[in-house]
Amino acid sequence: MNKQKAPYAAMPTTSRGRRFKETSPTYRSEFQRDRDRIIHSTGFRRLEYKTQVFVNHEGDLYRTRLTHSLEVAQIARSISRTLRLDEDLTEAIALAHDIGHTPFGHAGQDALNACMKQYGGFEHNLQSLRIVDELETLYADFAGLNLCFETREGILKHCSLKHAKELGEVGERFLNKKQASLEAQLTNIADQIAYNNHDIDDGLRSGLITIEQMRNVELFSAQYDKVMWKYPDLTGNRCVHETIRRMIGEQVVDLVETSRATIQTADPQSIEDIRNHSEQLIKFSEEMRTKNQQLKKFLRENLYFHHKVYRMTRKAHQVIEALFTVFMEDTRLLPPEHQHLCRDALLEAGEIGQARVIADYVAGMTDRYATKEYARLFGVRGDVF
Ligand code: MG
Repeated sequence: MNKQKAPYAAMPTTSRGRRFKETSPTYRSEFQRDRDRIIHSTGFRRLEYKTQVFVNHEGDLYRTRLTHSLEVAQIARSISRTLRLDEDLTEAIALAHDIGHTPFGHAGQDALNACMKQYGGFEHNLQSLRIVDELETLYADFAGLNLCFETREGILKHCSLKHAKELGEVGERFLNKKQASLEAQLTNIADQIAYNNHDIDDGLRSGLITIEQMRNVELFSAQYDKVMWKYPDLTGNRCVHETIRRMIGEQVVDLVETSRATIQTADPQSIEDIRNHSEQLIKFSEEMRTKNQQLKKFLRENLYFHHKVYRMTRKAHQVIEALFTVFMEDTRLLPPEHQHLCRDALLEAGEIGQARVIADYVAGMTDRYATKEYARLFGVRGDVF
């Protein structure tokens, strides 16, 4: 960082701290330490084999949760640096933002949420926090990664009021209608910029959507026409990539310029002013928001609900539901350490506790591990997907 940070940026020296007190790192800031802990975590490595939209083995070039998270980190860091915010905190939040995702993307999360209905439900944002707060087993002194409040606050993007009440200080902003840090706000939008744009690339690569269809989407067609005008002979992947990189650029510039103006008007003097502000200060212009909604609608109708993707969604649902149900029926099918966790949880909290341990286990699976477990337990031959 060569520019001085803004007075309302999150400051590692005035962090609201960690749940378990630790001595400060020697050569790193507290937020750098958080970023490093996330990179070394098991949950982070699992992202490599978890679905973003396409199931992991459908092709080597599609985004996975890991490459998606790296793209989010890249976009978020650029925005953070430009707005003179804390880049390390931004990166830590971006790398961990999807760490609680189940196998098979949103289909897996919906299935697990349905299984957990009578046991408190399953939300991937809450699960991300649960992983970094409790489930990682890397350190002698504490469970989880013992991250700073600001990192945990950023990881918990959304939360129902019912759950917010159970989360202590990190849930308070949902009850008191306060905002998260600007680093958290911008990472959330960088997530949307990343997936909207890389899903176009993956969608075109898969052949499920076409350039002709995409030309009905304003954000795409505006940049595509410019590319075609400048490089009339350009075709194939280079043309798609040139268009998408310009789309990302346009959205990032809009976000930076609009947010700069809203920050200037609000004139915050500290991160507390950011938290107490009536609304989020990181935002797109109205015009860009409308264009983004059009793009999202297009992707939802033509890609996420494409019948080939939907077939995967149905199968994913079946795999997750079958695994959860069979483990609930007979915990002896679980690996020994999870059997022990189940036994302890059952004693402590009854069936709800046991269900949570099983949900943790199923949610932690990679796509291929879940598929293999399903094949092993139910004697399925051949490819499940
Ligand atoms: Mg994401």
